[in-house]
Amino acid sequence: MLDTKHIQAFERIVGKENVYSDKAHLIAYSYDATRTRFQPDAVVFPRDEKDVSEILKYCNEHHIVITPRGAGSGFTGGALPTQGGITLGMEKHMNKILEIDMENMVAVVQPGVINMDLQKAVEEIGLFYPPDPASEQYSSLGGNVSENAGGMRAAKYGITKDYVMALRAVRPNGDIIRAGKRTIKDVAGYNIAGILIASEGTLAVITEITVKLIPKPKFTKGYMGIFPSVEDAMNAVFKSLAAGANPVAMEFLDSLVVHALKEKLNVDLPESAGALLIGDVDGNVEEEVAFQLEILEKSFKANGAQEFVIAHDAQTREKLWYARRNASPSITYFGNKKLNEDISVPRSMLPEALKRIYAIGERYGFKVPCFGHAGDGNIHVNIMLQNPDEKQLEEAHHAIEEIFQLVVDMGGTLSGEHGIGTSKAPFMNIAFNEEEIALFKDIKKAFDPNNILNPGKMGLPA
Ligand SMILES: Cc1cc2nc3c(=O)[nH]c(=O)nc-3n(C[C@H](O)[C@H](O)[C@H](O)COP(=O)(O)OP(=O)(O)OC[C@H]3O[C@@H](n4cnc5c(N)ncnc54)[C@H](O)[C@@H]3O)c2cc1C
Repeated sequence: MLDTKHIQAFERIVGKENVYSDKAHLIAYSYDATRTRFQPDAVVFPRDEKDVSEILKYCNEHHIVITPRGAGSGFTGGALPTQGGITLGMEKHMNKILEIDMENMVAVVQPGVINMDLQKAVEEIGLFYPPDPASEQYSSLGGNVSENAGGMRAAKYGITKDYVMALRAVRPNGDIIRAGKRTIKDVAGYNIAGILIASEGTLAVITEITVKLIPKPKFTKGYMGIFPSVEDAMNAVFKSLAAGANPVAMEFLDSLVVHALKEKLNVDLPESAGALLIGDVDGNVEEEVAFQLEILEKSFKANGAQEFVIAHDAQTREKLWYARRNASPSITYFGNKKLNEDISVPRSMLPEALKRIYAIGERYGFKVPCFGHAGDGNIHVNIMLQNPDEKQLEEAHHAIEEIFQLVVDMGGTLSGEHGIGTSKAPFMNIAFNEEEIALFKDIKKAFDPNNILNPGKMGLPA
């Protein structure tokens, strides 16, 4: 509970109309997509960077905890105010596209801008911002940078970090810092922008983002490979890419997901398939698209594909993407509690990793539908439970521990895109040794000696 004098201090900085401590607001800002609940003591909406700086300075002096928040669509609890204090909401005022520089192919945005709004704005003038998380309609660019969000197009175009050129941010003591430049090359000084990307709001509050844009490709076509087994599909992923295929996306659905899509949403997919690979290829001339489809078809068939379907028209392509986008909601067909992990492994490890993940699920008696961004090695592994009791939840925790251990042993990581937050924090010691965790703590201390900014996240001290 915050003392009234603190609420009044925030009101003096941002105006009464931008500070909320009524029950409705506190409840509304208690959640993110993990659906776990932690209530802040107040929600404060800064109007600009100067407000952010003054709020942080005040909080630092009075040891008040701050949780930065974009759209609250995170899957690991990063925006949850687990220690109370204030939630700093970027969506109300700091949501403007400040500049689109066509000559240098760069955009400058405030952190509350919604990903899709930037995509639309730049596409109107023939440019392209590729990072497209499935939450693109509502997640913010500040949240995307803070989680280093990936998306469907990562196989060809990379992820958020590949587009961030520069950031402005405010340290917990109120200092405003600039990191990076509007240049392709910049090797002067430490890469502070690189440290802030994926820092989950634990080091500084990002107040401005400069991103790289590229020309928008002129032609796109969809495709689907139908495979008898997951192993065949996973072999086809890395072998087709090594053979020179360069698809925009190569997304995987296993047979459990295909079944759930059919039962829940009546999606018409080849139900007898053991696995599907769905995606797009693009290019600036039609021949490039045809060439990419040819390589994919040849490689897929050489690796066991029963069929290769080309989506020649927009409607067929949309049908495939509808299936992919609805993979996550459809699998609640298998249970009302979904423990959703997003492991990532080197692509050649995908066949073995998935074989062993399904075996772990079977041993514990859990259905484990898997889908995701196979083209970049990032798979969403979902342990499905129906009204679980304590014992089942504990068993699921052990199953996840085993999955993380095997992934790390294969050179992979706990999270390809959702971050650590609170939900993966208990597993950090699987992925990092004591010295590495000590270094994370030192970095945190250098930015935030009073531990006021999003404490307790990423396995760092609360
Ligand atoms: C249906 C669905 C699909 C999804 N699909 C994808 C996907 O394909 N790829 C993917 O990567 N993710 C996906 N996500 C997860 C989520 O959308 C991303 O992590 C997204 O980047 C979070 O953005 P946000 O604005 O909602 O951030 P929030 O959830 O509000 O915050 C996320 C983290 O960023 C910090 N933060 C936010 N803004 C700032 C700031 N200005 N300064 C400092 N820290 C800040 C917060 O403190 C928190 O730690 C999906 C989520 C859902 C619900």
